[in-house]
Amino acid sequence: MPTANKDYYATLGVKKTATPEEIRKAFRKLARKYHPDVNPGDKKAEEKFKEISEANDVLSDEKKRKIYDQVGFYSDQIDPAQAEAYARAQREGSRPPVDFGGFDFSGFQGGAGEPPGGSSAWGSFKDIFSGMFSGAQPAQPRGPQPGSDLEYQATVDFWTAIRGGQARIQVHRQEICPTCHGQGHLGGSITCPECHGSGQVTQMGGRMKFNITCPRCNGTGKISNECPTCHGDGTVTHTETVEFRIKPGTRDGQRIRLQGKGNAGINGGPSGDLFLIVRTGTHPVFTRQGDDIFITVPVTVAEASLGAKVEVPTIDGRAQLKIPPGTQSGQKLRMRERGVESAQNPGQRGDEIVTVTVAVPHLNDERSREIMRELARLNPTDPRKELFEKL
Ligand SMILES: [Zn+2]
Ligand SMILES: [Zn+2]
Repeated sequence: MPTANKDYYATLGVKKTATPEEIRKAFRKLARKYHPDVNPGDKKAEEKFKEISEANDVLSDEKKRKIYDQVGFYSDQIDPAQAEAYARAQREGSRPPVDFGGFDFSGFQGGAGEPPGGSSAWGSFKDIFSGMFSGAQPAQPRGPQPGSDLEYQATVDFWTAIRGGQARIQVHRQEICPTCHGQGHLGGSITCPECHGSGQVTQMGGRMKFNITCPRCNGTGKISNECPTCHGDGTVTHTETVEFRIKPGTRDGQRIRLQGKGNAGINGGPSGDLFLIVRTGTHPVFTRQGDDIFITVPVTVAEASLGAKVEVPTIDGRAQLKIPPGTQSGQKLRMRERGVESAQNPGQRGDEIVTVTVAVPHLNDERSREIMRELARLNPTDPRKELFEKL
C-alpha cells in the first residue's frame, strides 16, 4: 500500500546514499529480528515487519526507489516520466504550468494505508499534491538533448515553384541562449528558495503533517544559479528568416528538409531539423495539377465549327493550337509536353490541357441575323434530341 510520509531509509536504518547491497543487508538483519515466525502473537513485531518489508519493497527496486526519491513517496500510480517531470518542476518552480491531468491519487485510498486522520485528511493530502503538481513545469533536462524538429508551411510563388529559385520564410526557433551559452545556469549555486537551505520541506494536510525531502534541491539545500535570460532552458526563442532553394518543378505539398535549422539542442545536443511543406501559389490564367497545366481558352463559333489554328498561352509563352473542325464548348485538347518540367523525373514534362469554350457573337445588324437564320435552315439539328432520348 502506498504511503506518503514514511521515511523508508530511516525504517531500514540506512543512509539516503545507501547502495543496493547495504539496503539488502539492513533488511535481512531487521527481517530476522521481526519475522512473525520468530515473534508468534507479537502485534508490534508484526507491524514492524510490515513496515520494513514495505521499505525494502520500494528501496530494493531501482525504479521504485527513484520515484520515491523524486516525489517523496511511492505509488504505482506514478509513472517514472511523471516523477521525473515533477522533480524537475520542483527544482525550477517559477515558470508556466504543465497539465498533470490524469494523475490518479485514488490508489492512496482504502486498505491498510488508511491514515490516522481519516478520509477527510486524505482528501486534503490529495489537494496538497495536486497543488504542488499544478505549479509544475518541464525544466532543463540533464545531459545533451537533441533539439526538436520544426514544421512550417512555406508558400512559394507560382513561377518560382515551376522554374526553381530562392524563397524565404520566417521561423520561430529556439537558439542557444547567448547569456549562458546553453548551460542554463551561470555557475555556482544559490540557497534553495523552496526549503531555504534546510533540504526538507513540510507539507500540511488537515491534521497530517509531512516532512519530505525538498524535491526542488533533492535535499541538498542548494540549487544552481539559474540564467536570467533563458530561466534555465539554455535556449531562447528567436525569429529568423530562413532562405531555402526551390528545385524547378517543385509540387504543392512537397516537403523540404533543412538539416539543423530546427530548435537548438540543449547542453550541447544537436539541433533539430526544419521541415517545410511547400504550398505553391496560384496564377490568374494557369492552374497547376502536378506537372500538368490547365487553362480555359475561348474560341469563336467560326473557329470551333470550321477549325482553326489559334494562339494560346503556355508557361513558355505563346504557342499554336490546332482547333479541329466541329469542336464543342467544354472539349479538352491536350498539348503534349507543354506543362511543367518534372522535379522527380528530370527531362520529363507534363502537358497543357486546354478547355475550349465557344464565345457566341452578339449579332447587332439585320444582315448578320439573316445569315444566322439561313445557316440554321441549312443545318436543321436539334442539340437537345439526345437528352429526351435518354429519358
Ligand atoms: Zn541562459
Ligand atoms: Zn530545497
